[in-house]
This record gives sequence, structure tokens and C-alpha cells, in this order.
Amino acid sequence: MSTAAKKESMWNAFPGLLHGLARQHDGSLTRDLVQNPGGFGLGQVPAKQTPDAVTSMVCGFCSTGCGLNIHLREGQAISLTPTVEYPVNVGMACPKGWESLAVLAADDRATQPLLRDERGRRQPVDWPTALATFTQRMRAVQERHGPHSTAFLSTGQIATEEMAYLGSLAKFGMGMLHGDGNTRQCMATSVVAYKQAFGFDAPPYTYDDFEQSDVIVLVGSNLCIAHPILWQRICRNKRQPKIVVIDPRKTETAMSATHHLPLKPKSDLTLFYGLAHLLIRESWTKPEYIAAHTNGFDEFREHVAAFTPQRVAAATGIDAETLLATARLIHEGERVSFWWTMGVNQSYEGVRAAQGLINLALMTGNIGRPGTGANSITGQCNAMGSRLFSNTTNLLGGRDFTNPEHRQRVAEVLSIDPGKIPDQPSWAYDQIIEGILKGKICGLWVVATNPAHSWINQNMVRDVLSRLEFLVVQDMYHSTETAVMADLLLPAAAWGEKEGTLINSERRFGLIKKVARAPGQALSDFSIFRLIAEEWGCGEMFRNWTEPEAVFQSMKELSRGQPCDITGIRDYLELDARGGVQWPCPDHAPEAEQQRRLFADGRFFHNDGKARFVFDPPAEMPEPPNARYPLLLLTGRGTAAQWHTQTRTAKSPVLRKLYPGGVYLEINPADARKYGVRPNQMVMVESQRGKLSAKAFVTHSVQPGQVFLPMHYEPVNRLTLAHFDPHSRQPSYKNCAVSVRPAEAHGG
Ligand code: SF4
Repeated sequence: MSTAAKKESMWNAFPGLLHGLARQHDGSLTRDLVQNPGGFGLGQVPAKQTPDAVTSMVCGFCSTGCGLNIHLREGQAISLTPTVEYPVNVGMACPKGWESLAVLAADDRATQPLLRDERGRRQPVDWPTALATFTQRMRAVQERHGPHSTAFLSTGQIATEEMAYLGSLAKFGMGMLHGDGNTRQCMATSVVAYKQAFGFDAPPYTYDDFEQSDVIVLVGSNLCIAHPILWQRICRNKRQPKIVVIDPRKTETAMSATHHLPLKPKSDLTLFYGLAHLLIRESWTKPEYIAAHTNGFDEFREHVAAFTPQRVAAATGIDAETLLATARLIHEGERVSFWWTMGVNQSYEGVRAAQGLINLALMTGNIGRPGTGANSITGQCNAMGSRLFSNTTNLLGGRDFTNPEHRQRVAEVLSIDPGKIPDQPSWAYDQIIEGILKGKICGLWVVATNPAHSWINQNMVRDVLSRLEFLVVQDMYHSTETAVMADLLLPAAAWGEKEGTLINSERRFGLIKKVARAPGQALSDFSIFRLIAEEWGCGEMFRNWTEPEAVFQSMKELSRGQPCDITGIRDYLELDARGGVQWPCPDHAPEAEQQRRLFADGRFFHNDGKARFVFDPPAEMPEPPNARYPLLLLTGRGTAAQWHTQTRTAKSPVLRKLYPGGVYLEINPADARKYGVRPNQMVMVESQRGKLSAKAFVTHSVQPGQVFLPMHYEPVNRLTLAHFDPHSRQPSYKNCAVSVRPAEAHGG
């Protein structure tokens, strides 16, 4: 079947999932729910396996954080259904959620530690050998090259308590300075944007805002497939909202919107300045709000004065009339919300672009009220946990490593010597990779992430990883591109096989529980960290952390007095009973409050209580198309059934049927003609860094001069250019120059 046909058949098979759940032809919004997408057999209770108990927990794939009822027989999960009472998903789940249990039963689960022998073969070893090898070889690297020559790369996929344990063990116990998470790839931009604008990394919204807005602006977000349940929340909005999608591609979400602005790639910052210019010119701002609650508006007004409609139209490709109409929509909306995801974040000027949206919300007073906000939507199920408690860029509890008072407070809570806490932050992910290249990092511990697939400019990163003296990978599968490079593989339990908390995009803590046995000798990440602490000789430092809930109690104390205060959550039992709890939840918070929106009182987290307008001139695209590579490559999510590097989703036969098996390239018909490409023909896509073959999907969803590859397929990052936002160091995956030609003509 052709790629296009496969896509079409997928959409037909699940009409509720993509376009069908969006705006109907008559312009009304459907309220169909994805409560029972026929065909997800694994999500239904088998007739002969009547459950004898049901427990609920949150999904472990994406940041939406849906509630799932797990049906148990003799204490083991046999099936699941979405939780109707859970405030996030109210009875819905996407295909990944329905298949959460199925992916646990894969053939390539890591079931025992594997150690590479002197001939380069991976050999099974027992845990004592694995732990002794880990300790001896990491220590040997530190002795040879200094304590900061070992580092860790972690993830947004493990429980918050595990993140806190890993970050504390590595930095306070093992003497590491450098450790970062794969959240650098998706969320670093928003973290920095919020910190600079609001004084703390604080996404201000609650999902209920999707249902309360009357103008919803989605930027660089294909919500229909990336966050399908959140799209459903929009579909439940009774206010008949205007939906404005700002995206170079005519995505599934753009097709379903009331307005689509197909701007030129990476012209978003200019567009936001142009809209600000028009709002000021037309006196469509909220001067009282600006004066009472913000700083820097006068300078911002001067800055955007130069962004005339003519200039902005030339830079963005959006004509002056549409610009004014969009500004008018924002002005006329009583409740306007601005939402963004990776189209903004994964950019060489992502922080300023995110702040461009924050500026629009501030100047129009669209913050702190129902249906408003400058709202970043996260990717991974626990990216938000990583942002606050992973002890990587931030000290535990959203604190600052360079602040002596913060170090003292953390030392008191953990009863450790303050001198054990580094007084400087870690290198970012790309700096750790560069540190390996320069011989400064020689031992690396990778936990639940797959940089050999997902990091930008893949050929370079594989070469870099191969230079390490000691590479440890801790993962639930032994077959990831990074795991097969490891000197030592530590087999980890997965979601469903351990307990802890995850924090979703709207700041809601949710519980995960152990409802299945981990295979073979696999252990929870939490247990692995405990064993390593003992083997390393620093177990005493973490003596109180006997179980995840003990770490949770420490996290509560670490959060006390911080914007993310959770001292009002008594324990796991209460968290479970309350259907998740959003931070902040200080110990005096009313128990019944299920939705917590920030900044209702107009007070932000800077010392003066005011938000800041932050801005800079737009930057030049580092690698625009040129004579040899005349097309601009965009990357992004492919379908609702795929998750990141497909490490898990590829293990589900059901999910695999919902997306094309091989790489496909979306190309405009004009470019297809120009480069002699026929529909479904294999083509060679090439950048300065590498090449891949893909099946051509000729479509108007991409504009002439642009092509699109779904990010999930292994070869895609052979092409991408390693360049980064200067403030957040987040990689800019969505722009590099490529050429396309028919593969056969060149023997490709
Ligand atoms: Fe899980 Fe996200 Fe799907 Fe909800 S939308 S079921 S959290 S993958």
C-alpha cells in the first residue's frame, strides 16, 4: 500500500482520531469522545479474564497525563480503560494510552545486565557483577580524568522521585557536576522563557482553559495528533471558539482550525512583533494591566515600532490584511489563550519566540483569567518533573545551584553537608556531547533515553558516544540504538512495573503504580539507584529514601515556600483520592480545588511581583536553502500512534498498523514536478551531514520550497543541523537545507 493510502486508511480506520474529531463541515464542533475506539482490543477486558479489581493511575507516554483504569486479576494488569472521572481526560485516551500495557511484553525487553567483553560481545552478568563494574569503571574514569569527567543524561520518562534520586546520587554522592535530561530537546526553551518573563518556570494554565477560551491561538502545535486529548478538550468548548493555527504546514490541526496562518518557517518571532505593533497602533492593549503588573513595556513598544505590516508581511509571507484581522481577533476575544509546542521551542531563537507570545498575552491582559494564558504544552509524561526535581539545570525544587541560601536549604532538608552540593549548574546536553568530543567527559550514564537516535546530527553524536571510555545505558529495552553501543546495560522496569509520581503539562501530580511484574531481573530505576548508592559507598546519604514515597516526602519539603509548593499533599493515598493535584498546593490550600490557574492576582514571581517584556531582534536562519540544497527540511510528529523514537510504540502490533512503517517525505506537487519525483517513488533526501531514502508523499500540506519528515524514524537525524537556541541551548530540529532527487536515477 502506498504511503498516502496507508495514511488515508489509518484516518478512515480511526475517524474519531484525526480530522473527524475536529471541526465538522457545518462549522460546529463535534463533542464525540474517543471513549471506545473500536479495534483497540487490548484496551478491552477479555471475556474470559474478568477483572477482580480496578485501580487507577496516569498514563506514562505523553505530558497530557490521562487517567487510566487498570483492570487487575490476582494483582496483575490484564487490560485498561480511560478513567471517566479523571479531570484531565474525562474518559478519553489516545491509541498510545490504550496500548500502554501491550508495549511491556516485547521480545527485546532487557531482562538481565549485559556487559561487553574484551571481544566486544555483550554477555549476561548478574547484578553484583554489574554494580561492581559500574562502580569500578566510573571511579577509574574519575581518578584518571577528575571527578567531573563522568556525567549522566536522563529523561522525562521516569518518575519524579527517581529523577530526584538520580540527580542527588550523581551530584551529591558520586561527585558529578554535569547531568542533563532529554527534556533539553523539547522544553528548555519554555523553561527559560518563563523564568525570564515570570520569575519562575511556571506554565500558568489548567486544561479547563481549552474549554473556556473564545480565541485559541495554537503556534507550532499539531495538537490533533501530538496531544489528541487536549484537542478533544477544545472540541468540548461550548463558546464556539475561533481557532487560529500558526504553522508553515497545513497540519491536521490547521485543516481543522477556523484560521490558518501558513507563515514562512522560523518567521514566528517577526510575526509576533508585527501583531504587537498592530495592537499598539490600534490602541488594542490593556494599559491598566500593563502598568500594574509588568515591566519593560515602553522599551518593547519602541522595539516593535519598526515591525510595520509591510515589513512583517515580507518576512512572514502573511499579507497585511490577514495580520490586521488576526490582531483584531485577539483584541475582540474576551478570553484569548496562546498555546505553543515544538514548532516554537525547537528553534535557534525559541526563547524569544515563546516570549513573543508571552508579550502578546501580557499586553492584552490575557493571563490569570479563565480561558487565557501564554501556555507552553510539554511533550514527555514527566518533563515537568524533570524541570523541577531532576537536579540537572535547577537545584532540587526549582532552586539555583549558584545561590548559597538555596544550597543550604537543600542540605538541611536532605541532612547532607552543603559542601557536597555543586555551586555551579551543569553543562547542557550539547555541552556534555561536546565535552566528550574534547575528552573532558569520558564516562557517561544514560538513563531511559536514546541519544544515538534522537540527538541532532546523528552521525556526529554516534561518533562522539563511541569515543567514551565507559558508556552505561539503563533502559527497559536492550535494543535501542544507544543501548547496543553500551559497555554495560542495566535492565530497568517500565511504567506499570513501579511506582512514583509524574507531573503533567498543567502542573498536575499524578500517580503511577506497580500493576505488572518486571521481566527477568529488571529492576525499577529507583531500586537501581539505591543499589548503586550502596555500591558506591554513599548509601548512608540516602538512608531515608527506602521507597519512592519517602522521596516524595522530601520533595514536599524541598518545595516548601517555592512557587511549586506541594506541602498540602499529604501522601500518595491522598494524591490518588484527589484525582491528581496541581502545584502550587501549599499546606493551607483548599482540598477540593481541582483546577489551579496561576497569576489570578496579577502577581508574578519576580521580586517586584511584575512580569517582564523580553525581546531581541530576530536572528538569521543559520542554514537557509542554497543552490546545492534548495529545500528547507521541517520535522515533527507523524501520527498519534507514534511516540518519539518508537522505542515503545513500535512494539505494539496495533500501533504499528496506525502509521506508515517506513520513512516518508511530504513534498509539494510543484517541487515534485521540479525535481522529477512521482507519488510513492523512493527518493534520496540529502543534507550536508548525511542522507536517507524515503517514499515520496506528494501533498499540498507543505508549501513549495519546504519538505517534511516525521521525526520518529531512525535516519531522520542524519540530516539535521546541530544548532541551538543561545539562551536555552535547545536544539533547532526544524530547519536545515536539503536536496531531494529520485533514488533510482542515482542508484540510491
Ligand atoms: Fe497517554 Fe498522552 Fe495518549 Fe493521554 S494523550 S492516553 S497521556 S499518550
